Amino acid sequence: MNDEGQLVARIIRALSARTTPLPHAPEKPSIRTEILPRNSPHAFHLHSTMAGQHKVLASLPLPKQRTAHRPQGRSGASKSSILRLAVGDDAAILAPNGKLEWVLTCDAFLENVHFLLKTHPPDSVGYKSLVRATSDVVAMGATPRFFLLTLGLSVKTTRKKWLNNFLRGMARAAREFGITVVGGDTTKSDRLFISITAIGEIQPGRALTRSGARAGDLIYVSGKLGRAQLGLEAALRGQGNDPSLRALMQPHFYPKIRVDLGAWLAEQRLASSMMDISDGLSTDLGRLCAASHTGAEIWADQMPVASVPEKILRKLGEPRLDPLRLALHGGEDYELLFTVPSQRVKKLRDAPGFPLLSCIGRITDGRTLVLITNDGLKLRLEPRGWDPFRKDS
Ligand SMILES: [Mg+2]
Repeated sequence: MNDEGQLVARIIRALSARTTPLPHAPEKPSIRTEILPRNSPHAFHLHSTMAGQHKVLASLPLPKQRTAHRPQGRSGASKSSILRLAVGDDAAILAPNGKLEWVLTCDAFLENVHFLLKTHPPDSVGYKSLVRATSDVVAMGATPRFFLLTLGLSVKTTRKKWLNNFLRGMARAAREFGITVVGGDTTKSDRLFISITAIGEIQPGRALTRSGARAGDLIYVSGKLGRAQLGLEAALRGQGNDPSLRALMQPHFYPKIRVDLGAWLAEQRLASSMMDISDGLSTDLGRLCAASHTGAEIWADQMPVASVPEKILRKLGEPRLDPLRLALHGGEDYELLFTVPSQRVKKLRDAPGFPLLSCIGRITDGRTLVLITNDGLKLRLEPRGWDPFRKDS
């Protein structure tokens, strides 16, 4: 077995042992993935070969009616009767049969773009990479089920200690979100990169998109906003490993996602639109409003800002750490942003984690985002969240 085969086997074994054990997994298998033809009842098999013995370790079953759906359109490639939603939202939706829909998304997590090896502990890199992909599934109201992992490993990250800690973090996230690894691939890379494809499922027609908000709907967010950005600010100042800042770093290193809340909102048909806040409220709300052809007003005095301890302010400097600014523009909180028609908001009291929800504004007829300050001033809210292509980032 070659080096890469051993590495893939180790990764699949490490993750599977901590999520759903594969049946009869041998100690040192060579693992490969076989994509199956259309008429098969499975999407693919995960094969294992050891000492000349070959077996199928696991299969991803497809719904029975898959072959009944044939692509439509002249080329047969651009349109499909099973495609419900394509590019433009948090995730795509496929309807392989009438009973369940699949929600699919992928996410890239890159060294020196999204994290730094010298700052971010390996288990945080593993944990957060799965958070990012799974968050988009949850943002559609779907229940996370499976994921596929592509790893480009650098020399440093191939070391046993680093890789084990990375996998431990990823396995912890997988356990918490109820998501199972079903395949993977590794390759060499100058810098570490992680690409994850996440798959969720949902009852037909229940998925919550960005485009359903209507004027008058109230805007809600879960949790506090700006906490992850606060941790990032400390990390960028080289203080991410300061033991006294440990609690402060948690939302940045190990962000939580609201799996139960997302699924509940979809199940109850309560929200008119939803997305996750990955790039900052000002940027992501702008995306939701653009998709819904609406505007919004945000009430500054209702924003769930993170409190910044005096000690931290002294360490990191006041001006850039205004809690409202962090909450409006800070990225990576992975909280849910959703809208609810005003006549239905009473039902929200039954939502999982209801005390953590804040009503921060309302959807308007216009096309702009407006911030109403504590003094009653109306300011234009510009998208100032995370953008990897911005020149100064
Ligand atoms: Mg998203």
